[in-house]
Amino acid sequence: MNGRISTGVKRLDDCLGGGIERGIITEIYGEAGSGKTNFCLNLAIRNSQFGNVLYIDTEGVSGERVSQISGNSETISNIKFFRVRSYDEQLEAVPKVINVAPALENVIALIFDTVTAHYRVERDRRAELRKRYGNTLTYQIEMLNNLAINMDIPVIMVNQVYTEKNSIDVMPVGGSALSHMAKAIFMIQKVGQNRRDLVVIKHRSLPEHKKCAFIITGTGIE
Ligand code: ATP
Ligand code: MG
Repeated sequence: MNGRISTGVKRLDDCLGGGIERGIITEIYGEAGSGKTNFCLNLAIRNSQFGNVLYIDTEGVSGERVSQISGNSETISNIKFFRVRSYDEQLEAVPKVINVAPALENVIALIFDTVTAHYRVERDRRAELRKRYGNTLTYQIEMLNNLAINMDIPVIMVNQVYTEKNSIDVMPVGGSALSHMAKAIFMIQKVGQNRRDLVVIKHRSLPEHKKCAFIITGTGIE
């Protein structure tokens, strides 16, 4: 039985059967501006009162948005941000976070936003790295999956999307490694100006295509 942690939004937790599962990778993908970072920041900030949240950040999170969501929360320092500016930094950061995590008391969750951002940009360099080290992204995902299991924490991995030729459907980037390893996959879909659906793509105990509605507000998501 996997326990769950709250998304920080009661109606999302209720819709998801309690929240985000511990001990597994949950993948969240969606188009630019769909609300992936808002979802992650909201979850991190609402859970920071219970312990540490590790947050690997490739986009340079907005301090302004963090303040809007956290308000006067004093537990914001429980969120440990690891800023990753390039794929080289990512190659160093993932093992570092994996080493740091077990030494920290009370880790509630690990968030990786966005796992494929640099990977996608540095395509040429990646080929070179792969020749030298094998498939580095698959290796990172495997390491993070082991961390989720060993520490019994949720690992939330944000992914970007692409659109296939002649299709309007968006697909997650990065091949099958993440979609196999992630035991829960959700897509965030825009349904209106601030209205969003978290759509179940793959889950062990929720029906496919189930939609959980939320809105992006001035102070987070609700
Ligand atoms: P990307 O793929 O580019 O990283 P994302 O999926 O992470 O995008 P977010 O940055 O989480 O997207 O969400 C952007 C959305 O959040 C925009 O629609 C924006 O209007 C909305 N948003 C940001 N701040 C506020 C606010 N203070 N009030 C209402 N909506 C906001
Ligand atoms: Mg984002």
